[in-house]
Amino acid sequence: MAYRRTGWQTAPTGPPVVPGRQVPMPTQSPVAPRYDALIIGAGHNGLTCACYLAKAGLKVAVFERRHVVGGAAVTEEFHPGFRNSTASYTVSLLNPKVIRDLRLAEHGLKILERPFQNFLVLPDGDGLLAGPGLARTVPAVERFSRKDAARLPDYFAMLDRAVELLRGTLLKTPPTDLHRLRDIFSAISFGRDFRALPLTTQREIHAIFTRSAGEMLDNWFESEPIKALYGFDAVVGNYASPYTPGSAYVLLHHAFGEVNGKTGVWGHAVGGMGAITQAMAREAERLGVHIELEAPVQRVLTESGRVTGLELADGRVFDAMRVAANVGPKLLFLKMVDRDALPPDFVAHMEGWRCGSAVFRMNVALSELPRFGDRPEGDHLTSGIIIGPSLEYMDRAYADARLTGISREPVIEMLIPSVLDDSLAPAGAHVASLFCQHFDYDLPDGRSWHEARDAAADLIIDTVTRYAPNFRDSVLGRLALSPLDLEERFGLTGGDIFHGALGLDQLWAARPALGYGDYRTPLQGLFLCGSGAHPGGGVTGAPGHNAAREMLRG
Ligand SMILES: Cc1cc2nc3c(=O)[nH]c(=O)nc-3n(C[C@H](O)[C@H](O)[C@H](O)COP(=O)(O)OP(=O)(O)OC[C@H]3O[C@@H](n4cnc5c(N)ncnc54)[C@H](O)[C@@H]3O)c2cc1C
Repeated sequence: MAYRRTGWQTAPTGPPVVPGRQVPMPTQSPVAPRYDALIIGAGHNGLTCACYLAKAGLKVAVFERRHVVGGAAVTEEFHPGFRNSTASYTVSLLNPKVIRDLRLAEHGLKILERPFQNFLVLPDGDGLLAGPGLARTVPAVERFSRKDAARLPDYFAMLDRAVELLRGTLLKTPPTDLHRLRDIFSAISFGRDFRALPLTTQREIHAIFTRSAGEMLDNWFESEPIKALYGFDAVVGNYASPYTPGSAYVLLHHAFGEVNGKTGVWGHAVGGMGAITQAMAREAERLGVHIELEAPVQRVLTESGRVTGLELADGRVFDAMRVAANVGPKLLFLKMVDRDALPPDFVAHMEGWRCGSAVFRMNVALSELPRFGDRPEGDHLTSGIIIGPSLEYMDRAYADARLTGISREPVIEMLIPSVLDDSLAPAGAHVASLFCQHFDYDLPDGRSWHEARDAAADLIIDTVTRYAPNFRDSVLGRLALSPLDLEERFGLTGGDIFHGALGLDQLWAARPALGYGDYRTPLQGLFLCGSGAHPGGGVTGAPGHNAAREMLRG
C-alpha cells in the first residue's frame, strides 16, 4: 500500500482517511485520541523518529502537510508514465542501523550500487569516469596526470581517516549541557578520540573542517578534471565557491555513506527515493503509528515554557507532552511557535540561521539517452554525470549567482536512474534527474522565481545540450523546481536542502544553536528531529534516530 492520497481518499466529507490504514482516525469530535508524542512532518526523519518512539511503546501520531509521506525523499509522477525522485535522488548516507532497525529491506527497499560513481564531462567531448574505489579511479586519472594518479591512494586514505571520526559522531548526541554527567563524558570521549589520532591526522582533520575544498584539492592534485571531480561535492547544496573556507567539510559530508556495506559508494533506491520513505511508513504502520496526510500543523501549543500539543490548520487540537518537529528550525521557531514563548536571544539566533542552498532541481522525461561526444552508450550513463569541468568554472558559477542570481554556466549533476531501474519510465524511454547550482533564492530587482523559472530551466537544458547535442530534442516533458518551488512544495525554508547551511557555525553541538545541540529546544517537551539537528542534511535517518533516543530519556 502506497502512502499517498488518491482521489477517493480526499472526499470532502467524513473523517480524514489515512491511506493504507483502516483504523478510526481523529475527527473534530470533542474527544480527540490521546497520544504520547506528536510529530510535525512525515519526512524520512519524522518517520524514523516515530518508529523508534513507537518501538519503545509510545502512542505516536505524525501530521504531514503534503498528500504523500517522504518530504524531500519522495518519488512522484511528473509526466504521464514517467516517475522519478522529485528532490533527493541518490542514496549513500542512509544509516545502516536505521535500515536494519526499521526493517526497510523486509518492507521492500532495494538499493543498487551504481557501477561507476561519476563521469566528469569535458568541453572537448572527453571525460573522466571514476570510482567507486581506487581500482577504477587510478587508471582513469592516469590519462590526465600520472602524478595525480599516484597521489590518489594517499588522498583516499586521508579522507577515510576523517570520515571515520565523523562516522563515530553520527548517532551520538553532541555534548550540550556541561552540567550533565553524560555530556561531560561524551565531550571527554570525543576529545580523547581526537587526541588519540596521530598528529598528522589531527592536522588533516583540522584543515578539512576549516579550509576550502579548492585549497585542499590544489595542494593534493595538479590536473583540473580530478580537482573538479572531487570539488563538486563541496558545492552540492552549498551556496559557495569551492574556494570558500569551510567548503572542504561539505565535501566530507558527502563521503561518510555506504551502500550495502561498501563505504563511500552512492546507489539507487529501486523505485526512487520514495521507496525509502514508503518502507519507513510501512514499518511505522506495523508499529501502530498514526500517519495523517494533508494535515498541516499551524501552531505548536505551549504553556509556561513547555509544549502542550499542536493545532492543525483545520482547527483540530491534539494534546501531548512531547512534540518532535521534522520541519527546519527556521520554520519551526519563527512560524510555528509563539515568539513570546521563546527567549529573545534564541529568536535572534534563529533569525540569523543561514538557510539557502541556491539549487534548482529538474526532472526530465527523455525519448532517448543523451550522447556525450562520440562515446557509445555505456557505464558513464549509470553514474552521476557532472557538468563543471574545473574549480574555476564552479567558482565562476558562484560569482555569477551572487551578482545576477543565476549562474550563466551552472554546475549540473545529471543522473539517469532508468538505466538501472525500469520501473520509472515506459520501455525505451528514460528519466533523468538534474541537480543544478547556483540559483539564488533571492533574485535581484525583486524578480520572482515564478517568472524566472522557465528561463532558468531552458538555460539548464541548453547547458547540457552543449555537452550532449541530442539532449534538447529528446526532452518529452519536465518538472522544474526553483529554490522558491522547493520552499513551497516541501517547506524547505529558503529552498535549503539541508534545513540550514552545513557551516562550522551550524554543525554538531551548534546545530541549531549552542546549548540546544541535543535535539531539545528552549521549550520543555519540544524536540527537533529533522536535518536542522545533528548530523544535518541528507537522507541519513540519523537526526530522527537520535532525537527519539533523547525524547525517551525525557
Ligand atoms: C533538491 C534536493 C536534492 C537532494 N539530493 C539529495 C541526495 O541526492 N541524497 C541525499 O542523501 N540527500 C539529498 N538531499 C537532502 C535530503 O533530501 C534532505 O536533507 C532530507 O530529505 C531531509 O529530510 P528530513 O526528514 O529531515 O526533512 P524533510 O524531508 O524536509 O521533511 C519535513 C517534512 O515536514 C513536512 N512539513 C512542512 N511543513 C509542515 C507543516 N506545517 N505541517 C506538517 N508537515 C509539514 C514537509 O512536507 C516534509 O514532509 C536533497 C534535497 C533536495 C531538496
